[in-house]
Amino acid sequence: MALAKCLAMALALGVLAPAALAGSFGAPPPDIRDRLDALVAAYPEHLISHDGKHITWSDGSKMPISDGRTDKTFQELLNAPDIDDMFAFPYRAGSKPSAPRVNHDPGRIRYEPFFTKMYGDCRTATGAPSQATVPWLKQKRGGSVRVTTVNDVHEALAAVSAELDRLPSRFVKFLRPNSGTYNCRKISGTKRLSVHAFAAAIDINVKQAHYWKWAKPGKDGTYRWRNRIPMEIIEVFERHGFIWGGRWYHYDTMHFEYRPELLPR
Ligand SMILES: [Zn+2]
Repeated sequence: MALAKCLAMALALGVLAPAALAGSFGAPPPDIRDRLDALVAAYPEHLISHDGKHITWSDGSKMPISDGRTDKTFQELLNAPDIDDMFAFPYRAGSKPSAPRVNHDPGRIRYEPFFTKMYGDCRTATGAPSQATVPWLKQKRGGSVRVTTVNDVHEALAAVSAELDRLPSRFVKFLRPNSGTYNCRKISGTKRLSVHAFAAAIDINVKQAHYWKWAKPGKDGTYRWRNRIPMEIIEVFERHGFIWGGRWYHYDTMHFEYRPELLPR
């Protein structure tokens, strides 16, 4: 009997409490080989190859893809992911912004050792990421920002800025002033490092933003997705390797981070 059918029956008979089904994350997605190909292609400075079980770094070290667990709760997926868990939810670049399904958080699952190995760990004495200054909407006097030079994020963001600068002036209010890039901090309320700690993320104007933590959950405990950021802006970022936090059920609509592995070309 198929597992799903078996579980459904057990539930119907009252043999199994619904809570027992909570831990259903962790199995690699069926297209994991393609996802790993995309991962290796996305970070050519750092990764050489994968064999489906490990990725091989340019320094010769290997990192396992899987911790073998397939029974994670959503919180465990966030707090203790492995590499294949980063692909648990597909990121749909270019699609019109709309409310994601509950817990659909593509890109919010990050295997931290993978990122600290590339960008450094800013909490250590030598770990602050190397950075460059990038003008932000130069034509519109947006000042400048500091982002990492690792993975040429500074060049990707410069390309984003140049394209955003050419958009009609009605878009400026979403982008200027920006609300920050590098910040050696954890994600609020968690033990996980923010991508801002890698200097590989930017928050656009906080005054136009919606954030799930600022919202009150409804009676059923779910959060209502809200967004004001126009598609024209999201498209520019996605074209240059940045994912948008507005595509998350746990939305953060001012947030963009460099995650080209989720945006295969
Ligand atoms: Zn952010």
